[in-house]
Amino acid sequence: MIIAANLKTNLTRKETKQYIQELDTYVKNNAISQEVLVFPAMSSLDENDSSVIVGAQNAYPTKDGAFTGEIGTVHLDEFGINTILIGHSERRHILGETQELLIKKFNYYKDLGFKIVYCIGEPLSKREAGESEMMEYISTQYEGIDTNYENLIVAYEPLWAIGTGITPTLEDIESIHKELKKKSPAPLLYGGSVKVTNAKDVLAIDNVDGILVGSAALYAEHFCSMIGFAEELS
Ligand code: PEP
Repeated sequence: MIIAANLKTNLTRKETKQYIQELDTYVKNNAISQEVLVFPAMSSLDENDSSVIVGAQNAYPTKDGAFTGEIGTVHLDEFGINTILIGHSERRHILGETQELLIKKFNYYKDLGFKIVYCIGEPLSKREAGESEMMEYISTQYEGIDTNYENLIVAYEPLWAIGTGITPTLEDIESIHKELKKKSPAPLLYGGSVKVTNAKDVLAIDNVDGILVGSAALYAEHFCSMIGFAEELS
């Protein structure tokens, strides 16, 4: 299974270093064989020789250049980073990233062989509009994306569940993951208010290949427990 932490705009470089050390110790002491990914804030990217894979929450599709506020592959290469999150709902909806830009990023990082965690998910209005409208909306997020890319991981994250403490029912997650599995052979993660109290149930659902965790992952101890659940279930 794949257990991923999106640290968003949290934890300083020093705190991130300590966080990764805690995860590394847990993974090693418990002989964890699951894939553990951590996406720190951009300024917390650093050397990493731990058992945890560190990825970028964002990078521009460029080596370097005049793209103020962005980073490129020279900055990722410096730390041997070859994993990236693309299409997170906060980047789509708060930062205004369009599908067109996401396709550009996807293709750029795909050509470099990066592991790509590509996020999809519907807003509440689409969920409430019924299954077919919801699936149509989600389908647009697959447009231009090579769903057969070998280093692709898809994360289904309903917008209305992110950071809200509200999750779809286990049955809803099961049914949408079943549908989404028809669209891509890539591992499929669930994300949206996963916490230590529901992670085990979510991980046990058919066609859930792992979880992407935001707020609850900020507590290393809680995130380690979730890694432990995945190990038990595997
Ligand atoms: C996320 O940001 O990817 C996420 C799933 O956040 P949270 O767990 O806080 O809902």
